Amino acid sequence: MARYTHADCRQCRREKCKLFLKGDRCYSDKCAITRRGKIPGVHADSRKKITEYGLQLREKQKTKRIYGLQEKQFHKYYEEAERLKGVTGANMLILLEERLDNVVYRMGIGVSRSQARQFVNHGLITVNGKRVTIPSYSVRVGDVVSIKENKKEQPLFVELKQSKKPANLPKWLDFDPAELTGKVLAKPAREDIDMNIQEHMIVELYSK
Ligand code: SF4
Repeated sequence: MARYTHADCRQCRREKCKLFLKGDRCYSDKCAITRRGKIPGVHADSRKKITEYGLQLREKQKTKRIYGLQEKQFHKYYEEAERLKGVTGANMLILLEERLDNVVYRMGIGVSRSQARQFVNHGLITVNGKRVTIPSYSVRVGDVVSIKENKKEQPLFVELKQSKKPANLPKWLDFDPAELTGKVLAKPAREDIDMNIQEHMIVELYSK
């Protein structure tokens, strides 16, 4: 699969906001947005007034970057959301939240979505006791997400075991650090997704 190979912080600077792509660093003074926040590129300052299309495009790019997806993959979520009952934009965000890599991140097992994805790719994550290596795997209510039994003693996870339940754990998920196991308690609702995303702009862009 194609993947973005430039510096993560560059993506935040382009979107002029924190996308939280690098774990602890994003909450520190080292964050590039806190330090400079300038749009990358030589002609960054000379860019003209942004059009409505430009705003919609930026909103789509920002959301895509938050979840670490490429265009084709991201567009598929829009298409699937359109087929579902209800509001397309909200449906799309809910589908994105239900991705296994996002769930692993939200539970605090990974410090960023990219680390969470790596854990899934490397076979460290189980769902209902079975190893799942597909980051886009969509979790269901009642699913039990855990770290593979024989990997629980890795230093990274031993440290996690001694930590507290993440303060920002969404209410549709539970996670017990002592057991390194979490559960999907409910389907996420739009109001559970606390990121500043204006999904209606993405729908407007794609429905042109
Ligand atoms: Fe974005 Fe995190 Fe880099 Fe800050 S440290 S610019 S939030 S990826």
